[in-house]
Amino acid sequence: MIVVHSPRYQIDIGPHVFPTEKYRLIRERLVGVDVAEPEPATWEELALAHSAEYLAKLRGGTMTDEDVAQLELPWSMAMVEGFRLMVGGTILAATIACGLERRAANVEQRTVCHVGGGLHHAFPSHGEGFCPFNDVAVAARVLQAGGIERIAIVDLDVHHGNGTAFIFESDPRVFTFSMHQQHNYPIWKPRSTIDIGLADGTHDATYLEKLAQALPQVMAHLPQCVFYLAGADPFEDDQLGGLRLTKEGLRRRDRLVIDAVTAAAVPLTIVLAGGYARRVEDTVAIHCATIEEAARSASGQTRS
Ligand SMILES: [Zn+2]
Repeated sequence: MIVVHSPRYQIDIGPHVFPTEKYRLIRERLVGVDVAEPEPATWEELALAHSAEYLAKLRGGTMTDEDVAQLELPWSMAMVEGFRLMVGGTILAATIACGLERRAANVEQRTVCHVGGGLHHAFPSHGEGFCPFNDVAVAARVLQAGGIERIAIVDLDVHHGNGTAFIFESDPRVFTFSMHQQHNYPIWKPRSTIDIGLADGTHDATYLEKLAQALPQVMAHLPQCVFYLAGADPFEDDQLGGLRLTKEGLRRRDRLVIDAVTAAAVPLTIVLAGGYARRVEDTVAIHCATIEEAARSASGQTRS
């Protein structure tokens, strides 16, 4: 299986709840996988989902104090370039998954994991919640430009996918599904195609039951590509999440999504999204389990 990653995702943002070292720590634990390194998304690609005014602010360092407070990341050109590269990573993963770009001869890569991405809080004209760009939205627009129009986005980060929902609100070709903790950031939740807002402390059983009920509705959209935001922050020891899922529950969650998509032979692009466990090793282990499940499924694909 191919994974997409760059060592340059580890960005110095000072003392912060967002552990940008997680990308490196996950990469170090992956053995026996081919790693593809992305190029930065071009500014033209970013403009498929973002306004020219907003991109000019990021590029020129002319963000206001209010912009920076909403983004919750200190501005630096290194920060902008790190995230621009990460958007390139999601584009690369999606184009490999969809067969628009072949990195491995004779091997069809229908499932590709990006060890990065999932920046679902970025809107067209502003960034927020550690997300300067909306990588999945940009990649979806790139796929659409390449003729892959019907797309589904399964967002299982503990936080609602507000930016993504807003961007695709009036595009019926893109099915957006967010299952999240209702009483958590963001307060304003623009409507996704399906939103499931869960109570605090929902735990594994109810969560998995609701997910299993929703996935057939997602696949009924007949997507030509699915993006899965496999956030680690529904975990019981997460500092920013309160759904209290166990590691085993999260692995079963991943399996449900991966099996639903691969059973329909639809290309799947997995991105990591959030993860703020008290111990960064827990976040890393949860993301690695997602990649293991994808690899298990991908090896089944090549056998069949
Ligand atoms: Zn999150």
